[in-house]
Amino acid sequence: MVESAYASWNSLALNIAYGCWALGLLVVVGYIVRLSSIPDNKDKYDFINRHEVKVLWYASLILIVGACAFFNSNILELTTIMTFVRVFLTAMMGTIAALIIQNLLKFYYPFFIEKRLKVLRYKPRISPKTGKPMKLLSEEEEDVHLDEGMQAEENVFSVDYDVWKDEETGFIKIEKYAGHLHAIQCPECNYQTFKVAREEILRAPTETEEGELLKHYQCSYCGYKAKKTVALKPQVKAPEAATA
Ligand SMILES: [Zn+2]
Repeated sequence: MVESAYASWNSLALNIAYGCWALGLLVVVGYIVRLSSIPDNKDKYDFINRHEVKVLWYASLILIVGACAFFNSNILELTTIMTFVRVFLTAMMGTIAALIIQNLLKFYYPFFIEKRLKVLRYKPRISPKTGKPMKLLSEEEEDVHLDEGMQAEENVFSVDYDVWKDEETGFIKIEKYAGHLHAIQCPECNYQTFKVAREEILRAPTETEEGELLKHYQCSYCGYKAKKTVALKPQVKAPEAATA
């Protein structure tokens, strides 16, 4: 048989392809299983924010390697030139596929993630005391429950604290959302790639006067930059000191 010279190579390449595809799918399924096993919405939020794009990227790379192996699993004859052509074509197609997926994950996929994150963040939290939904406090209402450090952090950094209150028992659940980990929509290119790059305090707040904070935003897609000044609330004293 003529093709027997490459038969063992072909079956090896085919096995590598199937192995990679199985592994790539396993990575995705493993992620989904882990995500669905997380009971808390805030933990789910963090998990998606931290891992989802990375997991999908690695899974894609593994699947692409599998495709490259598959592409080379039906060799009937091979000359030196054909070897070069095959290696070149395989590397080029693999790279192009990886670049396309990388761009999809970086610039389109975040819209999809964002929608799910929003749902997770504002889904009413259930009180462990009563089993009933808790209430999300407004910016004004929540300050009582945040300590000075948290308030300062909310003022100075792009950090948001959500405070959930069980109105029956007074049970409080505080969740922290970090702004610099989280991109918003770019006003220039409309991708979900606009992030706080740097923050500087122009004027520190005193007990009576507001301060001023300058936030530098930058888009990781089109490079658009913007600055936004935010007022810093006067540094409120601790309640016991205020009554004195
Ligand atoms: Zn942009």
